[in-house]
Amino acid sequence: MRWVYDFSEGSRDMRELLGGKGANVAEMTRVLGAERVPAGFTITTEACVAYMRDGRAPDGMDEQVRKALHRLQEHAGRTLGDPSDPLLVSVRSGARESMPGMLDTVLNLGLNDRSVEGLADRTGNERFAWDSYRRFVQMFGNVVRDVEGERFEDEIKRVKRERGVQLDTDLDVDALRELTRSFQGFYDFPQDPAAQLEQAIRAVFDSWTGDRAVTYRRINRIPDDWGTAVNVQQMVFGNKGDTSGSGVAFSRDEVTGAPEPSGDFLANAQGEDVVSGVRNTRDIAELRDWQPEIHEQLTGILRTLEAHYKDMQDCEFTVEEGRLYMLQTRSAKRPAQAAVRFAVDAVGEGLLAREEAIATIDAEKLDALLHPTFDPDAAYTILAQGVAASPGAAKGAVVFTASEAVEAGERGEGVILVRPFTEADDVAGFHAAKGILTSEGGKASHAALVARGMGVPAVTGASDVEIDLATGEARVGDTVLHAGDLIAIDGTTGTLTVDDVPLVEPEVSEHFETVLAWCDELRRLGVRANADTPDDALRAREFGAEGIGLCRTEHMFLGERQQLMADVILADDEEGRRAALAKLRPLQQEDFAGLFEAMEGLPVTIRLLDPPLHEFLPHRSDVERAVERARVECSEDLVTLEHTLERVRALEEVNPMLGMRGVRLGIVYPEIYEMQVIAIARAAKAVSPAPHLEIMIPLVGYERELELMRGLVERVAHDEGLERGRDYSVGTMIELPRACFIADHIATQADFFSFGTNDLTQTALGFSRDDIEGKILSRYIDTHILDRSPFETIDTPGVGQMLRMGAWLGRQGRADLKLGICGEHGGDPDSIDFFHHSGLDYVSCSPFRVPIARVAAAQAAI
Ligand code: ADP
Ligand code: MG
Ligand code: MG
Repeated sequence: MRWVYDFSEGSRDMRELLGGKGANVAEMTRVLGAERVPAGFTITTEACVAYMRDGRAPDGMDEQVRKALHRLQEHAGRTLGDPSDPLLVSVRSGARESMPGMLDTVLNLGLNDRSVEGLADRTGNERFAWDSYRRFVQMFGNVVRDVEGERFEDEIKRVKRERGVQLDTDLDVDALRELTRSFQGFYDFPQDPAAQLEQAIRAVFDSWTGDRAVTYRRINRIPDDWGTAVNVQQMVFGNKGDTSGSGVAFSRDEVTGAPEPSGDFLANAQGEDVVSGVRNTRDIAELRDWQPEIHEQLTGILRTLEAHYKDMQDCEFTVEEGRLYMLQTRSAKRPAQAAVRFAVDAVGEGLLAREEAIATIDAEKLDALLHPTFDPDAAYTILAQGVAASPGAAKGAVVFTASEAVEAGERGEGVILVRPFTEADDVAGFHAAKGILTSEGGKASHAALVARGMGVPAVTGASDVEIDLATGEARVGDTVLHAGDLIAIDGTTGTLTVDDVPLVEPEVSEHFETVLAWCDELRRLGVRANADTPDDALRAREFGAEGIGLCRTEHMFLGERQQLMADVILADDEEGRRAALAKLRPLQQEDFAGLFEAMEGLPVTIRLLDPPLHEFLPHRSDVERAVERARVECSEDLVTLEHTLERVRALEEVNPMLGMRGVRLGIVYPEIYEMQVIAIARAAKAVSPAPHLEIMIPLVGYERELELMRGLVERVAHDEGLERGRDYSVGTMIELPRACFIADHIATQADFFSFGTNDLTQTALGFSRDDIEGKILSRYIDTHILDRSPFETIDTPGVGQMLRMGAWLGRQGRADLKLGICGEHGGDPDSIDFFHHSGLDYVSCSPFRVPIARVAAAQAAI
């Protein structure tokens, strides 16, 4: 078995085997030439998988590593650990998908008490040699031996204090020597370079199963069984003095997408100093003043890589004494605004075709473009200004720890996580918080990166905010904030305020409009919205919905009208019910008219009443109490109240969701559906242009159910002067397994099907959506039964196959049957892809997800 590949052998197509970093370092070696990319080799993800399975390195791996190291030594003309002129390497993790900062990396490996002297002699730079050694002993202890990072940091602080210096770069050789010695006292440091390498490789493998990596994978839905590759690479040194440095560069602005490079760098530093956020970085534009020829080379390389990968790139580079080296490239994670800007610009520049450009967009993230912002007309006082690190505005109570954020999130409270800077362990808190505020770090800091990845608004580096975690206070001038205080941040502008600023819904930007227009040309699936009110309908149309795919009618029976509906249900006979229904009808007719006006002739699918009847009645315990009171007070209401209680008891069900609901309501109490149809018909006649009506019967399992209800609708509509086919159609929601199995029969009674995938998932899996969300679902994900909620993304092998069978059989029964879907899945990009390939005609989703669905539908068609 082959476990090791040299960089010169790999390519971008091998990312599953070599990991993203390994595959791209290999690709860069090809594209930019061997002199730009330090040489090395990659141990495969398969080796990691074998290591996880067997608890030891697979047979042959160590031997192949030895040989690869030998080749590297030949190439470099140096040997690992050579006391006079040592080769140093980095040992870098790198999974198939990038997991920034979640896995471990060790730099400067190969140094020991003797080779450090060799390095010093050879380079004539003693400070550099000891700085590298100090870093190595620290990283090795932290990564390989689990010594807490804080112990090292405390020691560095102590030495700085003693020597009266401020910056790491002010520590002299003597100080570095002292630090290295005391670090070596924290654990048993191996002097033998071969042992160092072996242990570091295993530690990188182990980091795959570390807590923070596992948490990150859960959130980002990365499978646990991929494993990470390990890259062993010759070191280049950004810490060799003032003409050396290290940085991160994006081929375009990583926040706005504007077409000029952006990023951060530090002179006289190694790579981890830039990303850790511990030192204040300089903007990449300042490279021009620092070393103009490096700036020019880097700009050229960014352009080359972007054109080669046909995507925006995120690179790591190091400058060693005026020579530029590229250490990593990958597609840049970017917020939605940058994603759409890049897509439009890339087409304009001739870099990408429209289809290619649209494929670079993560549809799921477009949500952020529809995030609220501060009301531009609102007056508020800016308390502090930081870096606009992740767009969108958020308002919430201050919390200072990730765990508090998680707890608040579970209670459904909106919070802003406030930290000096963030670390990998804080990621669960990001997920739970509405926004992130840090006092340190720039656009490339951990906090910024992760927040953008998740679409959470963030302001970083707000340096006027002094955060004291020990006392639980954040101070800005005279203002003191405690946990629980309300703050608002705007990650689009980088502002913080304690004023209760109103947030407003955003406008769709010009770039986004362009992208959406392209998507509309490319997609085959129609996109409709689930909307129950004129407001929803208007919003849905603004976002480009082509109709309403689901109008639920239950709200028309609630609120002030609940009493009327209770009268219907409590009536003794049909006559009584009809009398009560007659009062509801004009009200509902108005509701429908408003909706139809908003839709201006577009199709509107109206679902007749669906929920269990008892939802419209008062709670039993309330009625019981009222009866008690009436008895004690000898009230004249007693008889009525006792009657109500009797009806409430009679209507009680053990499993309401499987009881008197859906089409069964129409079969048992046809007058309710009759009333609805009259209201719909009269409203339709009253507005112009008349809507394209689609009347939908829920929860059908037998074709006879639909036959009866279709008869009812046709009869009533005919009396109102409407004809099926000309003025309206009648269809059903497919949400029971039986309906999928006999879809050909049901189709003979239906003009259209709309798959109600929420209920179909519940009835097919026997999961109650509301009851599995908490404990059951999280345990199912932890134990690898599920990798995500089947209510978010359609369960393709089960529910999805049923849907396909229903669609196929349905068209057997009626060739021109129209097929749609109206569950939550209608707004989920992965599910949309499945629906496209299942031959459906349209998806229907909540208004805010309509733009996402338009893009996802186009991507499915590309
Ligand atoms: P991560 O995936 O956390 O970014 P990396 O493996 O990319 O980890 O390494 C962390 C930092 O170390 C990066 O900034 C990178 O530039 C730097 N680095 C890695 N390998 C080398 C090397 N061979 N020479 C110099 N710097 C390196
Ligand atoms: Mg990196
Ligand atoms: Mg349903």
